Amino acid sequence: MEKKLKQLTDRIHYLPHDPETDRPILSAICGTHQTLIIDTGNSAKHAKLFLNELDRCQIKNHHAVVLTHWHWDHSFGANEMNKFTIAHEHTKTHLEKMVEYDWTDEALADRVEKGLENSFCSEMIKKEFGADRDITIALPNITFKDKLEIDLGGIQCVVKHVGGDHSDDSSLIFAKEEKVLFLGDCLYPSIYTQQPQYKVDNVRHLLENIEMFDADVYVLSHEPLLAKEDFKGYINLLKLICNLTEKHERNHLNLVNELSAQLNRKLSQLEEEVVYCFMNGL
Ligand SMILES: [Zn+2]
Repeated sequence: MEKKLKQLTDRIHYLPHDPETDRPILSAICGTHQTLIIDTGNSAKHAKLFLNELDRCQIKNHHAVVLTHWHWDHSFGANEMNKFTIAHEHTKTHLEKMVEYDWTDEALADRVEKGLENSFCSEMIKKEFGADRDITIALPNITFKDKLEIDLGGIQCVVKHVGGDHSDDSSLIFAKEEKVLFLGDCLYPSIYTQQPQYKVDNVRHLLENIEMFDADVYVLSHEPLLAKEDFKGYINLLKLICNLTEKHERNHLNLVNELSAQLNRKLSQLEEEVVYCFMNGL
C-alpha cells in the first residue's frame, strides 16, 4: 500500500488508507498559522508514519488533531501523536469506557462475545499490534456539542457533529476555502449491531446534514477520494434505496427488482450489501 503523503489540494495533504490493517486516511489541513490534523491513526506505528511524512514534507505548526469518531482505527494513535485533541462529547464518553480495557486475545474474545467489540475490528487489532499489544487510550482535551469553527489562517474549518448509523458521535470536517469535506466513517453502516444496518430515518437525516456543505472533493476514511459527481451518485443511490425500502418494506425481492429496473442493470456487490443493511435496519 501507499505509505507516502499525498497532496489533495495546495494546502491539504493526506496519507491514503491501508486495508491491510484497516488504517483510515489521515489528513493535514495547512493554514498560514496552524496545521490541523484529522484523526490519529490506528496505532502508535500509524501515527509515527504520518508524523514522519509531515516532517519529510516540511509540514509544520501541527499542534492539534480532531477526531472524526471514537473507533479504534481513528483514535489509538492519539497517545503517540501527543497533540491537543478535539472531539465530540460522545467521542470522549466512548473513549473513557475503553481506558480500562485489556487487549489480550482472551479479553478481546470476551468483548466480541458480549457484543462490545466487533469481530472484524478484533482481528484487525491483533494484526496491527501483533502479540505485544501496548495500547494506551488518550482522551480528548476539548469537546464540543454541535459544531466548532477553527481558523487556521486563510482556511476556515467547520467541525460538525452529524451522528448516523455507523457511530452516534460521527463528526465531519469541512475545509471551506479548499472545498474539501472529510466524512470519516459516517456514511458506513453500524458495526456494533448483530448485523450491519442502515435505518431509513437516520440515513435521511445524515444526508441532509452532509448536503449543507458544498464540496469539490469528499473524503471517506476507508476508500479513494471521491469527486463531486461520484459522491452525488453515491448519495442519490442511498436516497433511492431509502425510498424503496419504505415502499417495499420486508419484500427484499421486489426491492431488488425495482432498484435494478431503475438503474437499468444488475446490482453490484456493494449495492446488494447496502440493500441488505437497509433490510437489517427494518
Ligand atoms: Zn468507524
